[in-house]
Amino acid sequence: MTHGIHHVTAIAGPASRNVGFYTRTLGLRLVKRTVNFDDPGTWHLYYGDETGSAGTILTFFPWEHVAPGRLGVGETQETVFRVPEGSIGFWTHRFIAHGVAHEALEKRFGETVLTFRDPDGMRLALIAVPGIESESGWSAGDVPAEHAIRGFHSVSLLVEDREPTGAVLTDVLGFRQIGEEGTTTRFRTEQGGIGGTVDIRAVGGFLKPRPGGGSVHHVAFRAADDAAQAAMVRRLAENHRIGTTEQKDRNYFRSVYFREPGHVLFEIATDSPGFAVDEPVATLGTALKLPGGLELQRSRIEAVLPDLGDTGLAA
Ligand code: ZN
Repeated sequence: MTHGIHHVTAIAGPASRNVGFYTRTLGLRLVKRTVNFDDPGTWHLYYGDETGSAGTILTFFPWEHVAPGRLGVGETQETVFRVPEGSIGFWTHRFIAHGVAHEALEKRFGETVLTFRDPDGMRLALIAVPGIESESGWSAGDVPAEHAIRGFHSVSLLVEDREPTGAVLTDVLGFRQIGEEGTTTRFRTEQGGIGGTVDIRAVGGFLKPRPGGGSVHHVAFRAADDAAQAAMVRRLAENHRIGTTEQKDRNYFRSVYFREPGHVLFEIATDSPGFAVDEPVATLGTALKLPGGLELQRSRIEAVLPDLGDTGLAA
């Protein structure tokens, strides 16, 4: 069965700053430049591995003048990437050299974690994972392939009560509870690996969130195909009394959305058709891509989209 995190979508400030940080500082590939289909004057930028595999994709809605968000209960607290165990030193030096806000190394569940922030204050971390050196990494700019990020490790969700959120993860989304440390409960898919972990942090009396720059908008989980997605939607309704939106065609995947019981916005996205559906893998992310209906408005859309600056890619 195909399970795990499909993508994470967050809110950012200026698009050019966002592109610079994720492509040049972190060395991810800009795999798609498109617009928010529900608000086509706004970019929707996708970063990931070479092909934009499920479990590697971080996407942003950048707003030039966004107010900073404030983390609260019912939100994703942190988004965590995997790097090879021997690469943590490289990344620590890199963050110092590039002035990236970061904390001292810490241990979680026995693994070494380097927490840091993007220019909008989004909470991110790298986790040192043994044995993944041989997994291929996208290499661009000055992040060598050997040290490259290998997709997501996990997200952590800040909720008041872990039980109902945990029930949706285990009964619907293919995770099982594997451990506890302090206030954190860890869930993992059968295969683990890329995008295979979710942490629930149960906290009481925390501030209400104020979504804005640096906030995660939603977390998407994988469904192999439409039938698997429909089965998950049925389980949500029958076992948890949770309804979803109708299926929406996002061009690169098909999605339904719902609020999990802890109030975090979840999506279930199909693995297909993927990012090579409208441009070749070799040139992913180099041109503005629009779905059919919006293609008719291309010149108007291009006129209002802010400049992306240096994307580190040949146009
Ligand atoms: Zn999404």
